[in-house]
Amino acid sequence: MSKIVDQVLSANAGYAAKFGDKGKLPMPPGRHFAILTCMDARLDPAKYAGLAEGDAHVIRNAGGRASDDAIRSLVISYKLLGTREWFVIHHSDCGMETFTDGVMTDLLGSSLKAARLDAKGWRDVGPGPGSPEGRYINWLTISDNARSVVEDVRRIRTHPLVPDDIPIYGYIYDVKSVRLNEIKEASEAGRVR
Ligand SMILES: [Zn+2]
Repeated sequence: MSKIVDQVLSANAGYAAKFGDKGKLPMPPGRHFAILTCMDARLDPAKYAGLAEGDAHVIRNAGGRASDDAIRSLVISYKLLGTREWFVIHHSDCGMETFTDGVMTDLLGSSLKAARLDAKGWRDVGPGPGSPEGRYINWLTISDNARSVVEDVRRIRTHPLVPDDIPIYGYIYDVKSVRLNEIKEASEAGRVR
């Protein structure tokens, strides 16, 4: 078995040993809110937002973007599982700021292997062949962090499957200070109508 698998299973055994009666928690989040945030490894929503098991939904993807699939989860979260307030939380120094759709399409077009980031940007160092499939995906990259939060809150707010009575707050998490900084324009766009 890989070293990582060993580490994960060992950590899980330790967690299970101390889990106590939390196995009896109900499915709906006890604090009735959801967070959409980035998958960045430096972000720990349970810690930065003070969550315990059973408290809230956390939906994560590259960038914390309001993709169709993120909205799918949010709609389920509200309609079937009782969340009543949502947060969109992007962050400083996001990897999604380091490339564009064109860059990703070119990289994948020449090689599927891992690319490397240097002073000039991303470049392929692995062998081909690549694939043209990358051009059919909207990678939802970010060029301006505050702008992306506003865009995503606005998209969720105006989505036909999202009810108008749920407030949506927009924040940027600072990876150095670990502070959550509100993007006023986003929260304004996400207010209850
Ligand atoms: Zn990120």
